[in-house]
Amino acid sequence: MTAPLTIIGSGMAGLGLLRQLRQLDRTRPMTLITADSGDDYSKPLLSTGFAKRLPPMRLAARSALEVADDLDAVVRTHTRVEAIDAEARTLTIGAETLPWGELVLATGAAPARPFAVPEAVADRVFSVNDLDDYRAFHAALEALGRPARVAVIGIGLVGCEFANDLAAGGHAVEMVAPEPAPLPRLVPEPLGHALGEAFREAGMALHAGRTLATLEAEGSRVSVGLDDGSSLSADLVLVATGLAPRTALAESAGLAVSEAGIHTDRRLATSSPGIHALGDVACVDGVNAMYVQPLLASAKALARTLTGTPTAVTYGPWPVLVKTPLLPVVALPPARSPSRWRIEGEGRDLTALAEDEEGRLIGFALTGGCVRRKVELARVAPPLLG
Ligand code: FAD
Repeated sequence: MTAPLTIIGSGMAGLGLLRQLRQLDRTRPMTLITADSGDDYSKPLLSTGFAKRLPPMRLAARSALEVADDLDAVVRTHTRVEAIDAEARTLTIGAETLPWGELVLATGAAPARPFAVPEAVADRVFSVNDLDDYRAFHAALEALGRPARVAVIGIGLVGCEFANDLAAGGHAVEMVAPEPAPLPRLVPEPLGHALGEAFREAGMALHAGRTLATLEAEGSRVSVGLDDGSSLSADLVLVATGLAPRTALAESAGLAVSEAGIHTDRRLATSSPGIHALGDVACVDGVNAMYVQPLLASAKALARTLTGTPTAVTYGPWPVLVKTPLLPVVALPPARSPSRWRIEGEGRDLTALAEDEEGRLIGFALTGGCVRRKVELARVAPPLLG
């Protein structure tokens, strides 16, 4: 029997690839193995569900069973692949050894926590990075039976989106982070301050420039201690301190990896024959974009490659749309440090243009009414991976 084409991971990358592959090849045996529930859901919706109190089932388009049926694939859920043998072309799950014909790693990225969470508060400290996490956090909010006081640790894209969404759902939100202003890796400081002001105006507290020092139980609450000696009290803590590509499996199989992900060329081929990677775990020709458009483009290109038409992936100048309705933000961060940021606009309607030494546009960030300039600016900005 032919060993199946095997995909590890059922996020938007793994499922997106399976979908593309089935359009091109109806007969090849395909297996998808995933550590989570395998439900087909859109991860960006996770940070929009609390405003509307959406139960987790409303975020999933299809169950793993329906995916397996529709795409005629073997789907194994709640199954963690523990090791890959790149020479023997097998993988290990507990006592099982399974053969693969070609292997695709779509293992995504995991929340990075720069601090330990004490056992005494572990059941009140969450990160939401997949539907199972959403289920757990949603259940904790519902169990309170009243609006919660939530401390959000981290003011990057994920922290800001959850903060805005929770506040819109009637919860009291306090944010903590060492950086001076929100979205530090996406927008220059004045635009981050504009978002911070919009948050404060909506009643959120923003402890910018402060590091988390302690997490302690305080009856049924959590006391969040800050580095200046002050503290805040929360029912629940949501940690959003960044994501790290899940490279351990690839690394122990001897594949080339770094902090940026599993290294691939533009055909998504890793350093090991027969193994490809895409999505948040993949660093494609030096770029790990970690958002949806690049992984969809990768899934399309890789499906063609795996069905006999070698295809290189390209990424366009695709800006990130930050889902903070209190102040809409769009950003195309420059690939390298700009020579200068030119900032125009008034109040919270700001345009920031990142320029190189010759004054050429290499990225941009927009807030408020200026987000409508995204199409016009994206037309002249350089592609992420040309
Ligand atoms: P993941 O979704 O992380 O999937 C990884 C899969 O691998 C999972 O199924 C996991 O169970 C499995 N896995 C890992 N290790 C193993 C193992 N050893 N064995 C078996 N299975 C394993 N992007 C946008 O473009 N727009 C947005 O608005 C946006 N909003 C976002 C909001 C939030 C809250 C978050 C967290 C991200 C957002 N993103 C957004 C980013 C985007 O969602 C991700 O880039 C994308 O979903 C990543 O998909 P993935 O399949 O690569 O990884």
